[in-house]
Amino acid sequence: TPLVQIMDVYKNYGPVRALNGVSLDVFKGEVVCIIGPSGSGKSTMLRCINNLEKISRGLIKVDGEIIGYKLVDGMLHELSDKLASRQRSKIGMVFQQFNLFPHKTVIENLIEGPTHVKGTKQQKARDTAAKLLNQVGLNEKAHSYPNQLSGGQQQRVAIARALAMEPELMLFDEPTSALDPELVGEVLQVMRGLANSGHTMIVVTHEIGFAREVADRIVFMDDGMIVEEGIAKELLADP
Ligand code: ADP
Ligand code: ADP
Repeated sequence: TPLVQIMDVYKNYGPVRALNGVSLDVFKGEVVCIIGPSGSGKSTMLRCINNLEKISRGLIKVDGEIIGYKLVDGMLHELSDKLASRQRSKIGMVFQQFNLFPHKTVIENLIEGPTHVKGTKQQKARDTAAKLLNQVGLNEKAHSYPNQLSGGQQQRVAIARALAMEPELMLFDEPTSALDPELVGEVLQVMRGLANSGHTMIVVTHEIGFAREVADRIVFMDDGMIVEEGIAKELLADP
């Protein structure tokens, strides 16, 4: 069965239909890139998968669990905050804005806060954090503050932090859109590494080159709907 199952999902904001009947399956280890114009519902879809938004209709399952709900006697009941938060911890999310805590060092950003390295033992958490920083090429920046880092470095810290909970699924919402062009490559490089090591990833991006090269599948959205879907190499012609 797919790791992610999005089943006929609608999301309304008042009169705005941000998602208009979206269905999508994503299998374990797959990298799916979502492409589409501004306002087409890409970000809303990611936020619904992560239960940062409540859907208006339909069902989303991740790893067999219904997002935001549990089934009791055939009826859907909203999850408690605690269970919802536990469910969210299985999903790592990276935003366009890096969302680091400005008054914490890089390593503190990884081992403290709402998403943090698994394990309560301080030393173990520090070891894991060091490993993650190594993975994104930033071990020498452990004790720097975010404002001492470039945007690309900050985004790599944000990726390391999202990985800290050992998520089953990684969501990326335009992770390079806020970066100066010369810093985009280093972030895409880290994401390419994650893809190669088997992470399941859903990536909203305008980076067509990355999508063509790294994605197993491309999904085009427009007007809250999936308008086309297929193998990257077939849908995105070489430049
Ligand atoms: P994309 O990520 O493709 O740019 P979004 O998912 O951000 O698209 O937005 C889809 C539609 O939903 C847009 O019309 C947007 O204005 C609207 N929208 C998104 N978030 C909200 C919100 N919190 N409140 C009201 N409308 C929203
Ligand atoms: P993105 O395209 O990455 O979603 P936006 O600038 O569209 O970024 O949205 C930033 C924030 O504003 C999001 O939290 C989104 O939910 C909210 N938002 C977007 N469109 C609207 C809207 N029409 N009304 C209210 N909030 C909105």
